[in-house]
Amino acid sequence: MANLRTETVTEVHHWNESLFSFKSTRDMSFRYKNGHFTMIGLDDNGKPLLRAYSIVSANYEEQLEFFSIKVPDGPLTSKLQHLKVGDEIYISHKPTGTLTTDNLLPGKNLYMFSTGTGLAPFLSIIRDPEVYELYDKIILTHGVRTVDELAYREMITSQLPNHEYFGEYVQEKLLYYPTVTREPYQNQGRLTDLIESGKLFQDLGMPPLNPEVDRAMVCGSPAMLKDTCKILENLGFRESRHGELGEYAIERAFVES
Ligand SMILES: Cc1cc2nc3c(=O)[nH]c(=O)nc-3n(C[C@H](O)[C@H](O)[C@H](O)COP(=O)(O)OP(=O)(O)OC[C@H]3O[C@@H](n4cnc5c(N)ncnc54)[C@H](O)[C@@H]3O)c2cc1C
Repeated sequence: MANLRTETVTEVHHWNESLFSFKSTRDMSFRYKNGHFTMIGLDDNGKPLLRAYSIVSANYEEQLEFFSIKVPDGPLTSKLQHLKVGDEIYISHKPTGTLTTDNLLPGKNLYMFSTGTGLAPFLSIIRDPEVYELYDKIILTHGVRTVDELAYREMITSQLPNHEYFGEYVQEKLLYYPTVTREPYQNQGRLTDLIESGKLFQDLGMPPLNPEVDRAMVCGSPAMLKDTCKILENLGFRESRHGELGEYAIERAFVES
């Protein structure tokens, strides 16, 4: 397949029995925008078995990183979850996607609503120094079922605010709101309920969502996307589509796949 290259796995981290992350070498000719996804995969009896994956690593980093579900009996992830350091993976050099800041009208605050592995594209965006120049506040929400699914919490709450170059901006501008549905936790409930009730904004000390100043990106399951988009549309947000910029963006490939 055109644009398919091989990279070597350099690190694997299992968050729990259903989620893991891994890093690989990166051919620096592979260029992408923060928020993009690409096709990655493994060899399956002489043929590449590929799936779409958001790129977790920021586009200036020397290694690539991905955050993955382990689907029981999933054609790719039932194998991918056994990756070891030194294994080879396929990476397509044709990244694409709509969850990029240049796909939104300019605004004051950027909301990133995610559930599960939908967190992945936002992990590259919150590590993009330019995003801290574009917005006053960057709000990352992550909805999960259990506390052990709150992957990357440590990176978001401790490493990033202490980043050598832009830690100061992270401290001033990044608001992180993890919420859990099936266990006791500091924030509880479904993201959509927290948005609709206004609790999310009260907890964050932010005014209610306003399409005049707020911009949003949404990434999660098809049901979460549908419900969140409905809330946004009812508030007057318009989706960026077909090159026409709006107040919010989703990964259409998630919806159409
Ligand atoms: C644009 C795009 C970006 C994606 N980015 C990521 C990513 O960063 N990380 C990631 O893990 N997956 C991501 N996915 C899903 C991914 O492409 C695969 O579906 C997933 O890796 C499972 O592959 P599989 O072959 O094992 O099972 P598949 O046959 O692909 O999926 C089997 C079933 O598992 C469920 N499922 C698949 N992926 C997920 C998921 N991520 N979370 C919850 N349930 C799921 C669905 O019900 C699906 O029907 C993305 C999909 C799209 C379209």
